[in-house]
Amino acid sequence: MCGIVGYIGHREAYPIVIKGLQRLEYRGYDSAGIALYDGNNIKLSKTKGKVSDLKERLENEIATDGTLGIGHTRWATHGVPNDVNSHPHYSNSGDLVIIHNGIIENYDSLKKELIKRGYTFKSDTDTEVLVNLIEDVKKNENIKLGKAVQVALNQVIGAYAIAVFDKNKPNEIVVAKLGSPLAIGIGEDEFFIASDASPFIEFTKNAIYLEDEEMAIIRRNKDIKVRKIKGDAIVDPYIQELQLNLEQIEKGGYDHFMLKEIHEQPDAIFDTFRGRLLSNEAMVKLAGVEDNMKKFLAADRIIVVACGTSWHAGLVSEYIFEDLARIPVEVEYASEFRYRNPVITEKDVVIAISQSGETADTLAAIKLAKSKGAFVFGVCNVVGSSIARETDAGAYTHAGPEIGVASTKAFTTQITVLTLMALRLARAKGTISSSEFRHHLIELETIPSKVEKALKSDAYVQTVADIYKDATNFLYLGRGFNFPVALEGALKLKEISYIHAEGYPAAEMKHGPIALIDEQMPVVVIATKKGHYEKVVSNIQEIKSRKGKIIGIVTEGDKSVKELADHVIEVPETIECLTPLLTTIPLQLLSYHIAVMLDKNVDQPRNLAKSVTVE
Ligand code: GLU
Repeated sequence: MCGIVGYIGHREAYPIVIKGLQRLEYRGYDSAGIALYDGNNIKLSKTKGKVSDLKERLENEIATDGTLGIGHTRWATHGVPNDVNSHPHYSNSGDLVIIHNGIIENYDSLKKELIKRGYTFKSDTDTEVLVNLIEDVKKNENIKLGKAVQVALNQVIGAYAIAVFDKNKPNEIVVAKLGSPLAIGIGEDEFFIASDASPFIEFTKNAIYLEDEEMAIIRRNKDIKVRKIKGDAIVDPYIQELQLNLEQIEKGGYDHFMLKEIHEQPDAIFDTFRGRLLSNEAMVKLAGVEDNMKKFLAADRIIVVACGTSWHAGLVSEYIFEDLARIPVEVEYASEFRYRNPVITEKDVVIAISQSGETADTLAAIKLAKSKGAFVFGVCNVVGSSIARETDAGAYTHAGPEIGVASTKAFTTQITVLTLMALRLARAKGTISSSEFRHHLIELETIPSKVEKALKSDAYVQTVADIYKDATNFLYLGRGFNFPVALEGALKLKEISYIHAEGYPAAEMKHGPIALIDEQMPVVVIATKKGHYEKVVSNIQEIKSRKGKIIGIVTEGDKSVKELADHVIEVPETIECLTPLLTTIPLQLLSYHIAVMLDKNVDQPRNLAKSVTVE
């Protein structure tokens, strides 16, 4: 799940690689390392901790030069996060240097074989096994690096994006991909390598995204040869023009990416429905749905597969699809779905949701569903991602890059896309009238400005955060469309503040969690006007009777909850199915402020990574 960066060309590699690693830190930050090669000496430096620690160390040293460089920011899978297990890794001879994102599943048996042949290992990583396997193949068969990488990878089971160079070949880097992302930026007489395009966006807009089971031999001042890893086929790579720009990946005056991304939601939601929601014409246009309308209309049911926050967006969509389009929906954790024996038929439509489009479990669930003949539709944010390529059709969220590890704008834009889909299908099926349809479109169009208004509660949310920041447990309650929002609110708090929190359907409270309530327990209750309001008010009474502290998320102008709750945070009024887009805003802000007050690393919470490319 780590980030990899590489450069070969005419500039000093160090500044490009180190900056690139900082941009990729969302992918992992257990340790960081870099190898620079000036044609004579390799300078390899690595350390446990953040890229900033590596940078500090390197800036006190001299001779960080070289126009070939590779770097890695790690999310440990094999071996604890320490200096030795950090990448890059040398082969035994010291000739080959590798960085790797992924897991070599059969590393243990390969390692035993290599040990028998006299190889020794310094680290506990699967990666060091791979670099020695390449070396072994290269020596035994007396072949060039590119060929040796190919032969070695054919013995490997697992997932990888790798970059490797050979001390004897100062003008060449070999890269390969299976299951983990790898982009190659093509400049003027220079090449960039990275897990996504952000490290090289200011240098070039032209990029090749390697497909699974492809490798490339990149030669300074020359060309790049892409080929299949299995067999001998040469690939004519597709050079894509990137739409990303630099401002999109910088903090823009905010203290954290998460806060920036929370505040970007009005624009992000607008961008998600721009050109798709046509209220004047009373139309929703989603090419992926339109082109496959027959499949959707013939579907017996929709199965949503996702993980984490995307799974919560999937749960919201269950309520929306069933309510508007009357299609039965099941929402599955991708990791569970793929490992049981699910009943999937050709009459199922599977919707896979993932911000990064790289989530390993979701990708595997997609492959399973496709193998059973289901039609698979992807909802991703990252254009050209693996899930976008693997699915039969899809719709991008267009939220712009999300860097903060705790997902915010990805959640609301996923809900926006799924709502558009539900509305389009409802219209096609005739399950809502044309006036209701129009009303929904008009209301959805007002959501960006209502989110803007909801964001104005920021200062008050900060006050509430200050009161409860030392609580050790939180309960989040919601009903109907807002039950998944309660789950998401609790997840946000756990992720970035490390405070234990649970989300529950409000009415379930009395079946267990109510036992937890005492005067120490803050309970966040989503109690908007249009969501079983009276029932939720009764639940609030029950909490109050047990002295719990109540933070109500209410509709503007609310009176009843105000009388009962210790604090209320208002959101603008909207139709019930759209309330999650508003109620989620104060919950994001609450977790953000608590985490900041507790001095936690908001953008890079411990143990997490943004794009979960391991299962
Ligand atoms: N499996 C490798 C390691 O543990 C790479 C992990 C990753 O992709 O972050 O070092």
